[in-house]
Amino acid sequence: MKAFCPVCGGEVELPEDVMPGELLECQSCGATLEVYEQESAFKLREAEEIGEDWGE
Ligand SMILES: [Zn+2]
Repeated sequence: MKAFCPVCGGEVELPEDVMPGELLECQSCGATLEVYEQESAFKLREAEEIGEDWGE
């Protein structure tokens, strides 16, 4: 299972037992990424942005 890094656009391999909220590191750019679920698919966002206003 793979997802795309929002920072560099590189592919990031997801563990088979990945859970939303889990933090992964992009092997390409070193960014810390948070896993989230959207439309039954796992996607990644920059974990460093946690704490900012997401406009919810
Ligand atoms: Zn990256």
